[in-house]
Amino acid sequence: MMKRAAVLLLCFCMFFVLSACGNNNLYQAPTKEATQAEVSDSNAAGDGESAPEAEESSAGEPAAEEPSYDVQDVEPHTMYVIAESKLNVRKGPSTDAESVNALNRGDTVTVTGVSGDWSKIEMDGQSYYVKTEFLSESQPTAQASVDSVSNGHIVCIDPGHQQSGIAEQEPNGPGSSVMKAKLATGTTGVATGKNESELTLEVSLKLRDELQARGYQVVMIRETQDCPSSNAERAVTANESGAEIFVRIHANGSDDPNVNGAVCFAPSTSNPYVGAIAEQCQNLSRLVVNGLCEATGAKNLDIQLTDDMTGINWCQIPVTIVEMGFMTNPTEDQNMSDPTYQQKMVEGIANGIDGYFN
Ligand SMILES: [Zn+2]
Repeated sequence: MMKRAAVLLLCFCMFFVLSACGNNNLYQAPTKEATQAEVSDSNAAGDGESAPEAEESSAGEPAAEEPSYDVQDVEPHTMYVIAESKLNVRKGPSTDAESVNALNRGDTVTVTGVSGDWSKIEMDGQSYYVKTEFLSESQPTAQASVDSVSNGHIVCIDPGHQQSGIAEQEPNGPGSSVMKAKLATGTTGVATGKNESELTLEVSLKLRDELQARGYQVVMIRETQDCPSSNAERAVTANESGAEIFVRIHANGSDDPNVNGAVCFAPSTSNPYVGAIAEQCQNLSRLVVNGLCEATGAKNLDIQLTDDMTGINWCQIPVTIVEMGFMTNPTEDQNMSDPTYQQKMVEGIANGIDGYFN
């Protein structure tokens, strides 16, 4: 008799201990049992506390939709976002609810309630909902976050030209006696009236964003119109930047307004300065011009070999000069300034760069 009572007592105690553990682990593993335990807990403690919140919402914010959700309040606690990419923040505990914001991996949130497999969070004094499976009590490692974003490659982009040309001269290759202007003025759009330097900057900034989104680290020679750095100096900057390739963005010009299409310049294997990397330059150039033309439908003028370009001859890393199209052709000029066409161009160029590294 005594023995049986002792066993019963032991079972009773263990039940309490297990219940308590279940509560602590509730938001790591929201099992059905644990959720039920939470319901009774929060009801017992929450009634008095939830009253001010209800008063506030009826007096101030038009948060009329909130009471309709079946939400169990919990002790406010901090959780980390562990989603690989963005985590949507919604107005209700459903993927149908409006998304008002997005959180990044590693961000913290204050969880104040649970509704099914959604967590209620507080942001700026308002209640929102995120999927519980993308939250954790432990901070996600920075390394994992970096791995999921970076592809390990570095690209240097030179948006050709700047606000004005530089007539002063420089050797067109290391040790060369041939002198060329440090920076040409560039061409001008016959339809848009835009300077080449403005167009190349617009496209280069989009290319930067596209490459970064694909996991590349990007070094920009310029991000404003004010960059009095010569062609040779830009190449030296690229050489020393740690970049693996150098992509120089330009637009073409011709006396004939009918001429159109894209071309990439690369050195020949007999180039005295960069002959040793000429094949890599040609490979990069061909992939980029093919990518650009496939994405845009522009006429493919293939690659053109040239050994007198200062911007190529000073390079020590594979380089291509991308002539995206002719600003002297009215249609192509307008296309190149169109945001949708620009996005196609950068995706095509980025496809070529992806191809080079793969
Ligand atoms: Zn140019």
